[in-house]
Amino acid sequence: MDKLPVEYRWALNAEDRPVPITLAQRGERYTCPLCRNAMVARLGAQLQHHFGHLTTNRCNSEAVSIAALRRWLAMHLDQALNERRAMPFTWQCALCNQTHSQNLLENVSHVLEELLNAPESPDVRLTDAQGTQRAAFYILGEGMPLPQSLQQSVGQGSFAFALSAALLPESDDLVAFLATLKPSAAPCPLWDDPAVVRQPERLRRLLINLANRPPYYFFGAVETIDGLVDVVRVGRYRVWAAFPFWQRVVGGTLNRLSPDVEIFIQNWDQPDGGTIYLYYVRIRETRAIALRRYPLHSAPSLRVDDRYRLLRFTALDMARELVSK
Ligand SMILES: [Zn+2]
Ligand SMILES: [Zn+2]
Repeated sequence: MDKLPVEYRWALNAEDRPVPITLAQRGERYTCPLCRNAMVARLGAQLQHHFGHLTTNRCNSEAVSIAALRRWLAMHLDQALNERRAMPFTWQCALCNQTHSQNLLENVSHVLEELLNAPESPDVRLTDAQGTQRAAFYILGEGMPLPQSLQQSVGQGSFAFALSAALLPESDDLVAFLATLKPSAAPCPLWDDPAVVRQPERLRRLLINLANRPPYYFFGAVETIDGLVDVVRVGRYRVWAAFPFWQRVVGGTLNRLSPDVEIFIQNWDQPDGGTIYLYYVRIRETRAIALRRYPLHSAPSLRVDDRYRLLRFTALDMARELVSK
């Protein structure tokens, strides 16, 4: 079915700068970012504007887009960094529902471009003087899944963006281009509080500590507290318990009691032979977590009566039921 001519949306100009077809000019000399052969901008009225190779035609169009968009991003970020220009960015925070603004180049010392096409590596990264990642840009081809490393950066205090390889900047203004993006992950000032537990290892330790002190069980609702979304209050801590995060850090097997009643159950064996059972409960709009420690040779009886069918029965009711009896 390879009948249409392959159309390219990017090329390099005579100064080796990536140019999207939206900004191409008649009569300029262009080359392909992948094979370096000559390209021409076809800006006629008949077809949608595109670049074409003058001779060969073997480059993958999407690979050309990814290579060029990556270069374009890295080049503009590097230029702004060298000229000490700010890169203001405003976004709607998924962690607290508020709007935040920040200079994307704040504390940034390096712009790193990934040239090996490693699927888990960001295409462009911004790091501080110590090498800590502050922002990551992933350029994704059609149908490519979100890389795991991107998903794991959610809630961890740095920016991550997933960009479609089909994106074409309308101008060479990176600030305007960035304004069209929604971050997959972003820092949150409310989140930067030692009383907020949002690091995987810290969450695991806190859960184990809870299970190891009297009364050896805990349950709590997942709710919005002080503006923070999807947290559980544990003493003076607010513990992040958005479901994808819980699933990654704790995991568990799904038990579905009815279409809108789900319990995810995990168990962690302890060095002394005991076991901690951990639950994530979803009932209609409500969610809760629960855990309980069992000594060696004993396990919970997972019999629940059918009160969960009552509309007023919440995930917290179920969580209490599961561990406090
Ligand atoms: Zn080429
Ligand atoms: Zn926030």
